[in-house]
Amino acid sequence: MKALLMSGGLDSSALAHWLRPEICVTIDYGQIAAKGEFAASSALCSAMGLEHRRIAVDLSSLGSGSMTDRPSAPGAAAAEFWPYRNQMLITLAAMMLMPEGVTEIMVGAVSTDRHADGKAAFFRAMNRVLSIQEGGIHVTAPARHISTPELLRKSAFPYDLIGLTFSCHVHEFACGQCGGCLKHRECVDAVYHRMHEQLV
Ligand SMILES: [Zn+2]
Repeated sequence: MKALLMSGGLDSSALAHWLRPEICVTIDYGQIAAKGEFAASSALCSAMGLEHRRIAVDLSSLGSGSMTDRPSAPGAAAAEFWPYRNQMLITLAAMMLMPEGVTEIMVGAVSTDRHADGKAAFFRAMNRVLSIQEGGIHVTAPARHISTPELLRKSAFPYDLIGLTFSCHVHEFACGQCGGCLKHRECVDAVYHRMHEQLV
């Protein structure tokens, strides 16, 4: 049984549409945008007919960067960098889902992810850490070799659902100005507006 870590952003939403995991899980770990991520993921799963779960664990006192109210940690390549975040999210999902028989946790990393916890070596290592433990869960990042626009095209993600997606890092409603919102707009422009121009 497959599960997907879902933030409601373009990457995880497109993966949900493409691979239709049995369970999509959204984690409120104390990030500022948690309510927006949950609302988007919940609406998207409902529209796509997928099961949606929520985990809530307040780790806000341990975070840093723009997804919190504290300055970025040294070495941050982007404002939203939260040290060791992905290994924590994968572990929390595994804790909840292993007893239910989940054997694979998918993560929505893409080729443009800049931090070490979005790259191949990290996913190989996390896969090894989880798969040697009870439950033998595997960790995969099916879109790791492609960009967000390529993923949107490959997954045939419907334009009608774009309005439900949410990528903001700094507010529970899309601010339109942070790195997450700007990347969201760029990718949607690149895929759907070009498609629209071709049709006109
Ligand atoms: Zn924003």
